[in-house]
Amino acid sequence: MVLDSKILEVKDLFEKIPIARFCFFPTPVHRLDRLSEMLGVELYLKRDDLTGISVYGGNKMRKLEFLMGDAVDKGAEYVLTYGATQSNHAMQTATACRKCGLEPILYLISLVPPVEDDLRSNLLLDKIMGAEIHIITPKKEDLLFKALEQANDEAQERIKELEDTGLRCYEIPAGGANPVGTLGFASGMTELYQQLNQLEVEIDYIAHATGLGGTLAGMAAGRELLETDVEIISFGVVEKPPEHLEQIANLANKAISLLGKEGTITLNDFNIDTSYLGDGYAIPTEASTNTLKLLARREGILIDPVYTAKAFSGLIGYIKKGKIPQGSKVLFWHTGGTTALFAEQQMVGKVYL
Ligand SMILES: *Cc1c(COP(=O)(O)O)cnc(C)c1O
Repeated sequence: MVLDSKILEVKDLFEKIPIARFCFFPTPVHRLDRLSEMLGVELYLKRDDLTGISVYGGNKMRKLEFLMGDAVDKGAEYVLTYGATQSNHAMQTATACRKCGLEPILYLISLVPPVEDDLRSNLLLDKIMGAEIHIITPKKEDLLFKALEQANDEAQERIKELEDTGLRCYEIPAGGANPVGTLGFASGMTELYQQLNQLEVEIDYIAHATGLGGTLAGMAAGRELLETDVEIISFGVVEKPPEHLEQIANLANKAISLLGKEGTITLNDFNIDTSYLGDGYAIPTEASTNTLKLLARREGILIDPVYTAKAFSGLIGYIKKGKIPQGSKVLFWHTGGTTALFAEQQMVGKVYL
């Protein structure tokens, strides 16, 4: 357990950081009674699918409060970011931009090719919000990192074009995975621990889906600042280059240094398991599809096929194998993404069968 005084001390560190407040915080924490009974653990859910500001919120909104705060502070008019065509991050960036009166420009990698006259899910929302959209078609499937580099080159030209006319641009990396964005989940950890104290619940584990790693870096930074030894279990849903862990550790330490402290996070602080990923990013597995249906049918909770369903299938795997002992208190951080339920069939899986 973390003392209230410690939490307030950590919250104080954020006071001098620019922030644009637009989320509905704190997001709810509640117990999943029927699933807890079925699995033999005490299961809690942190509802970052409900961050706002539209009904299509998610974990990127936490990062975006800090990123938009920084963009406004720097006098930006345009915000550029990157993702896949159905990127939750890109859609949430467009949302946050509109809330703050900024112009969103999105560079989107077409992993699943969109059908121009039948746009779905996040790409449809991006269009409704009037984002400037550039679609990049990767030369080979699965080369997300290569395609992101190409997108970056094209974006630099666009930035130059805009800046030559006297406009200011603010660039956000894919997933909001930079030190400023990472502050979002460091702050989110203080929010969570205040709620847990109010609920008088002490958790042993936090489980969540990890992609580009900003969420995990922020959680690890928050854990270090709060001096708790909660175990964070991260289920990887994207293939990663080997240097990935080092990068997340750097991200966490840089976020801590923005708060005026020195971070000591190393790659040994992470526990990323990609064994529930299946055939690749945004490709459903049988277990993830079954898990998605299980949460819907046992608890009336909707999770998403790309991130949370794979992570939750991992969590169930851990409980069944005894890697998480019976009777443990586990919090699953619902990071949102449920618009993907309305995406292309190959992303959704056969969820209605
Ligand atoms: C982006 C995303 C994640 C992963 O967050 P990272 O910070 O990129 O690791 C998890 N769940 C959902 C629904 C997301 O959109």
